[in-house]
Amino acid sequence: MKKILYCFNCNKDVEPICDLQTNIYIVHKQQVQIKEEVFNCPLCNNELFDENLDSSLYNIYNEYLKLYDLSFSKLKEIRESFNLSQELFAKSLGWSKRTIVRYENADSLPQNQYLQIYNKIKNNKSEFINILKNNRGLLGDELYFKIFNIVSAELDIKTINVFLYVLKDNFLTKTQIMKNLFSIDFQSFKDYSKPITSLKYVHGTYGPIFDNKDAILNLLVKQNYIEMVNNEEDKILFKPTVEPDLFLFKKPELEAMDKVLDKLKGKNATILTNWSHKFKGWIETNDGELISYSYAKDFDLQNNW
Ligand SMILES: [Zn+2]
Repeated sequence: MKKILYCFNCNKDVEPICDLQTNIYIVHKQQVQIKEEVFNCPLCNNELFDENLDSSLYNIYNEYLKLYDLSFSKLKEIRESFNLSQELFAKSLGWSKRTIVRYENADSLPQNQYLQIYNKIKNNKSEFINILKNNRGLLGDELYFKIFNIVSAELDIKTINVFLYVLKDNFLTKTQIMKNLFSIDFQSFKDYSKPITSLKYVHGTYGPIFDNKDAILNLLVKQNYIEMVNNEEDKILFKPTVEPDLFLFKKPELEAMDKVLDKLKGKNATILTNWSHKFKGWIETNDGELISYSYAKDFDLQNNW
């Protein structure tokens, strides 16, 4: 698409000549170098002004953030890596929600001390939890534990997408979800020595379950990944609200998931529970005890039905 700007000197619309010019700005006492487009009139060579000034301010700020190895989108990614809403993230750090909103919308440029905190907690959950612990008095116990459970629920984006993949066109009850997730990770570990999700499985009365199961399902519902619907028998089913991102998975991971989904599809909770009770990893552990992946070699999707 051709860009057209108005030249006040020539009194008409012209197709400008565009050059890149390096400009230096001072932001929070630091020099920021930025390449900007400059437009000139092809007839009189006057500089023409683009009304899109907002975007140039955005570029300057973003360039400043790069000095800290950050960007506006990274600020949001850092918050999301903890599975927290803007409000809970702000509270955890003792900041106002408005601050976070303004930063993430690029309405305001974070001060140096805020940027240092972003860098401290980037890819560093234990550092974030340290800050959270320091703010416990301010938060009160109830809110503190709520945030702590969300952050330590280990729900990374790949794990979330396994839920979405399992539930795609296949709405399931809580029990069915447990069996699918457990089977996928143990099958995957058996096939190529790695689980797909970051969930941990423990011995539950009705078979292996993932640790923190209610907190995790609540989190998925709260963050609008899945919703609860009632079926004809008034049972609660979980239904995804978004499509899974398939590019997150390697081919053997997709194969392991499909293998499990095919086998478990249409089976009710009783059948699934009876089958999972024949798994050595369940038989040899006690209630609440972690089921180690060393049992993956004994996981048998084909038999014991
Ligand atoms: Zn002109």
